[in-house]
Amino acid sequence: MKWAFDFLANSEIVIHDPKETKGRWKEILNSDIVHIEIGTGKGDYWIQMSQMYPQYGWIGIEKNESVAALAVRKSEELTKNRRFIYGDAAEIDTWFDQGEIDVIHLNFSDPWPKNRTSKRRLSHASFLEKYKYILHENGQIQMKTDNSSLFEFSILQFQENGFTLKEFSVDFRREVHEEDAISEYESKFMEKGNPIYRAVWILK
Ligand code: SAM
Repeated sequence: MKWAFDFLANSEIVIHDPKETKGRWKEILNSDIVHIEIGTGKGDYWIQMSQMYPQYGWIGIEKNESVAALAVRKSEELTKNRRFIYGDAAEIDTWFDQGEIDVIHLNFSDPWPKNRTSKRRLSHASFLEKYKYILHENGQIQMKTDNSSLFEFSILQFQENGFTLKEFSVDFRREVHEEDAISEYESKFMEKGNPIYRAVWILK
């Protein structure tokens, strides 16, 4: 869509050539701790978390042009601790240097239920290899989903690829968790009464 293309091209929040920023994200975000969310959708989680934790840097990543433009439009003003990459996370290891990222958030990632498309899942081993490169030595990955099959798949992928499970819930919103923002998809699933699965891994 033309408006989305133009909007992204002219936004100051969008980092247009993230390869050029490799190794300088902490400086740009003015923080020693950098979080990224892969697959922001319309940006609710990325924006809320950057407001809740202004001491950290927050980078949103989204590959769908119109959704990315909506997220950036919602984000509005240029804040010191928030930037956006419109692109495919398959390239993530060309945007961030080794150990540059502290926390990766995967919220309600597309499940790609068919076996032949499993490589597109953001918790597939091929992505985990890239996350291992960009994550700091005590780095974390936080995942939420409503999809039990994707959750089971992810638990095994992380287990087999050098991550240690630190937190695990099959009904995360059973209790109030004010420390963690509710994403757009999460809100829809909570309204339907679906349980939210959540896990946190550290790199070990
Ligand atoms: N995280 C949001 C939420 O919880 O409301 C959106 C969830 S939506 C189901 C998944 C999003 O991930 C889609 O907008 C999709 O375009 C994006 N996505 C999927 N694979 C991606 C990739 N390889 N790189 C960047 N974004 C991706």
